[in-house]
Amino acid sequence: MDRLNSEGIDRSQLKYALTQERMVKEARRVNRCLLCAGPGVNEAGVCDGCSALLSGEEARLVELWMAGVKP
Ligand SMILES: [Zn+2]
Repeated sequence: MDRLNSEGIDRSQLKYALTQERMVKEARRVNRCLLCAGPGVNEAGVCDGCSALLSGEEARLVELWMAGVKP
């Protein structure tokens, strides 16, 4: 899966996006998931549905954001 729709970023860019405070904050501000552009994002700027799909480094970065630690 590269992306869920044309509005979100490419899956390959997610790890990079999760290290960019500016991108995460913007996703939270507009409440649009970084990956699928859907509503209802968490502290990492990713929605619940996408969070469940993440693995490895992506999941670790999301967990850091959720814990209040900026990666
Ligand atoms: Zn999403």
